[in-house]
Amino acid sequence: MEEEALYRRRLDLALECSGLDLWENDLLTGEVIFGLDRVFSDLGYDKSESAGYVDDIFSLMHPDDKPAVEQAIADHLAAKTERYYSEFRIRAKSGAWAWYANYGKILDREGDDPGHRFCGVCFNLDVKKRQEEELQGLNAKLREQNALLERMNAELHALATSDSLTGLRNRRYLLKTGEDEFARARRLKHELALLLIDIDWFKRVNDTLGHVAGDEVIRAVARRCSDGTRAHVDTVGRIGGEEFAILLPTVGLAEALELADRLRLEVARQPVAVTAEQSINVTISTGVAILAPECQSFHDLMLLSDRALYRAKNAGRNTVCGPAA
Ligand code: GH3
Ligand code: MG
Ligand code: MG
Repeated sequence: MEEEALYRRRLDLALECSGLDLWENDLLTGEVIFGLDRVFSDLGYDKSESAGYVDDIFSLMHPDDKPAVEQAIADHLAAKTERYYSEFRIRAKSGAWAWYANYGKILDREGDDPGHRFCGVCFNLDVKKRQEEELQGLNAKLREQNALLERMNAELHALATSDSLTGLRNRRYLLKTGEDEFARARRLKHELALLLIDIDWFKRVNDTLGHVAGDEVIRAVARRCSDGTRAHVDTVGRIGGEEFAILLPTVGLAEALELADRLRLEVARQPVAVTAEQSINVTISTGVAILAPECQSFHDLMLLSDRALYRAKNAGRNTVCGPAA
């Protein structure tokens, strides 16, 4: 007897130190045989309000958690699990929800007899759940911040590489891409073509119609250049006031000349509306160059197209010129 009392004291002490509350239910009658006193008192209920039946506990359980608890019990009953475990919220007397967890096991499961004494421990999980929720909140915030940072980086990159008047790539980006494409073309023995385009008699537009009209002409030519080229393959940039460059990877001379002439005709064909009432005719001159054996760098290719552009201007403008014969 003394031994039993000592054992009982040890058990009480162990339960108290670990914050566990012992329980036992009868699965046949649905009765709570004993236990959960601590849980119920922690939740603010007095002794008379303690659960008499398993259903009393379920009636205090958060509806979202019930299915998982029922499933965990069913799995254990069907011997699919070695022990029963579930996490759930219980409504305190104050109306607040508190997280708890249960471990349990069916006693005396023998042969075909599934057993009906369901025994286990219950413990408070609020702190852990709160920490988890806090962590999830922090992670969500972190993900949000990262996404924002990525968006800002992308915007910054777009701003740093584009020309604000036309939305085309800027000079710096075109030169950098030109060097990259030059190296790639050399390495893979690909062709590479470069078009330098300059609007004809542009000063006159500015002088007679003003800078705003001049800007409109620049934008219109920019649109025609980008509409006429391959998205994600060709690089179209504004490299000076009314000068543009188009970098054409894997394109040879015949194709480059053909594209340049198509753009020239496109620009000449459609007058540009510089105001609501006035449209003006615009023409462009283009120098075309392809990667030649003597080119040591992208800069050399730029010089070749610049010389071709010079010849196009001298030939009377609204003209396309390729490499010197
Ligand atoms: P050419 O046929 O020989 O090219 O004659 P051009 O009049 O076009 O001569 P040039 O290329 O020297 O003229 C460029 C002019 O472009 C000079 C400058 O005032 C003007 N310009 C440069 N940047 C801008 C800009 O952003 N907007 C406007 N409206 N004009 C600009
Ligand atoms: Mg110019
Ligand atoms: Mg010009």
